[in-house]
Amino acid sequence: AVDLLTFGESLVSLRSAGPLALGGALTMHLAGAESNVAIGLARLGHRAAWVGRVSDDELGEYVLRQLRAEGVRVDGVTTDPARPAGLMFLERRTADVTRVRYHRTGSAGSALSVEDVRTPIAEGARVLHLTGITPALSGSARDAATWAAEAASRSGTLVCLDVNYRARLWTREAARATLTPLTAYASLVIASADELDLVDEPGADESTVVARLLTRGVRTVLVKLGADGARAHTRQGVRHVAAVPVTAVDTVGAGDAFSAGYLSGHLDGLDLDGRLRRAVTVGAFAVAGHGDWEGLPRRAELSLLDGHETGSTI
Ligand code: ATP
Repeated sequence: AVDLLTFGESLVSLRSAGPLALGGALTMHLAGAESNVAIGLARLGHRAAWVGRVSDDELGEYVLRQLRAEGVRVDGVTTDPARPAGLMFLERRTADVTRVRYHRTGSAGSALSVEDVRTPIAEGARVLHLTGITPALSGSARDAATWAAEAASRSGTLVCLDVNYRARLWTREAARATLTPLTAYASLVIASADELDLVDEPGADESTVVARLLTRGVRTVLVKLGADGARAHTRQGVRHVAAVPVTAVDTVGAGDAFSAGYLSGHLDGLDLDGRLRRAVTVGAFAVAGHGDWEGLPRRAELSLLDGHETGSTI
């Protein structure tokens, strides 16, 4: 069994340095919330597996090659002979504004189904990491997420759900209707403050949502607060952890890095404080480096941000 199993859609991300309408060079990157988390854990030395459907062409090969290069296990991946790779364009419109455009409808990744996850779930994992993106991709992907959450929780796997709302994929109402029942299988729920009412009634406040989740069997609720760090709620109460101060150059992927850090701490048997410290540390690496996952730390690098002034040479 692996330490972490996750599944979803990994996209080929094409980045421009300026307005897309002008053309010019694009750089190619791997993107995807679940694969970001798998890479984060693999970098820290855990056995991480990613499952999904990839296109049967050079783009699918690229996705697998990147994941393998990062030490993520991909033997459960299905190659889809009929569907194209999901694409994402990141248009750097101004220094501060990047626009995103998806080409993922009908993609190989969105055709994920229960059949694709049956074997990896049966093989077992210590942690199953799900995001609210996967069930938004298609009806079959939603069924796969629900089936896997139930099967994993029944077999004693810790199920982690990161709400990860994507307004381009579904409405808040549709997300709420699918994600709220999913929390019944989760031990750990991770959300931004503005995503919390997607696992409860519309407009419900943090303490209400948390109380209800804890009653439903969730053990820990993590609320991400960007540069303000995060709050962790358990039956023992609430704890705040400050972010690690860094110069932010690219905040995309911070949430996935935070999840990877927390889960790494869990796998290492750290207490709540230790898990939170690792979460904010890995989150800080993500915002301090370019790319969604490229700057994530290896285990020996975890202390790199400790007490160093920005601009220091070590
Ligand atoms: P994204 O969707 O961009 O991945 P998110 O909204 O899911 O991000 P955030 O709350 O922005 O998640 O960030 C997750 C964690 O990363 C925070 O809890 C914090 O620990 C860290 N982080 C985010 N922004 C900063 C920052 N500017 N400086 C230091 N740490 C940060």
